[in-house]
Amino acid sequence: MPDSASRSDSFKRSAYRRIYPLRAIGMALGGLAVASVLIEQHAAPWRWALMIVSCLLWPQIALLRARLSADRYRTEKHNLLIDSAIAGMWAPLLHFNLLPSVVLVTVTTFDKLSSGMRRLWLQSLPGLFGAAVLTTLIVRPPVELQSSLLVILCTLPLLVVHTLSSSIGSYRLIRTVSRQNKLLEVLRRTDAQTGLFARDHWQEQADAALQRFHATGQPACLLMIDIDHFKDINDTYGHAAGDEVIGPVGPLIRDCIREEDSAGRYGGDEFAVLCRNLRASDATAIAERIRARLQDLHLAHYPQLRLTSSIGLAAAEPGFANLRAWMNAADTALYAAKELGRNQVAERSPSLAFDLPR
Ligand code: GH3
Ligand code: MG
Repeated sequence: MPDSASRSDSFKRSAYRRIYPLRAIGMALGGLAVASVLIEQHAAPWRWALMIVSCLLWPQIALLRARLSADRYRTEKHNLLIDSAIAGMWAPLLHFNLLPSVVLVTVTTFDKLSSGMRRLWLQSLPGLFGAAVLTTLIVRPPVELQSSLLVILCTLPLLVVHTLSSSIGSYRLIRTVSRQNKLLEVLRRTDAQTGLFARDHWQEQADAALQRFHATGQPACLLMIDIDHFKDINDTYGHAAGDEVIGPVGPLIRDCIREEDSAGRYGGDEFAVLCRNLRASDATAIAERIRARLQDLHLAHYPQLRLTSSIGLAAAEPGFANLRAWMNAADTALYAAKELGRNQVAERSPSLAFDLPR
């Protein structure tokens, strides 16, 4: 699979192909606006020839230049700068006829902005104004600002088509950014190794469940799950084996809980489950199911490897002022499960000594 750097390289290299149809259509419509002014000027044949070369032939030449270039992206950048110089050249040749001159200059400058190429619009300005000044000095055109109805009618297609295609481009861009933002949010919420919720997101949910318990009395339970002697697995089978073990624990835990529960990776070999709207006696059954399934887990690459886990359970209580207090209670129960010999579920009971932080 290509990495993101090579994808972005090939996207850049193919820029000229995406730009070609836009340039061909834009220049042809620009040519229509120019032709309407040339008709009214009773222009000399060389101006018509210049119109044909710059509006009809230039897009083909630009395509060929990019295709034959060793650095297509750079050449296409130069092509875009030449587009601006052409627009700058036409303003004096149109005797500064207001509507087509302004539209040609605005459209070509806007194209630089929407190309996404860094600062290209700024780099295009010297060429644009340079060509305008040079042509003015050579041709010494009269200034005829007024645009007739014919010129307005012949300029409108460029204006309308360009506005439409820019709007469609912006719409697509917004849709892509919004899709990617959603994807980023999913990635932020997910632990890549196990597919469970990442710690921060899981904590947000547990916090909300505790608030709900305080507000409405709806019960909730926390399970803190820790793999027993996980360091030994790393030491015996290697760190890569340890990584491979952690992965399937996520789907296994998710398989044991209900739709309304949330499982997260709390860190290292520690996992946490929030059981919503459930009392401790029922949460114990879920914890037992997880413990038993972990004990039965068989890994294809390490058939002799067995996992056991210790699980601490704490139901939400009115005395828990914040999530930390609740988690401490579950942690204390987990510690008790370890102390009692591991591979078991221990429920928080008031007799378990621990301090509630306020
Ligand atoms: P205990 O029964 O007391 O839990 O013993 P333990 O060996 O599991 O000790 P503890 O839970 O304190 O430490 C877990 C160790 O697991 C720490 C770290 O070296 C290792 N570990 C944590 N996350 C990963 C991981 O993603 N991959 C691997 N390979 N090792 C991890
Ligand atoms: Mg452990």
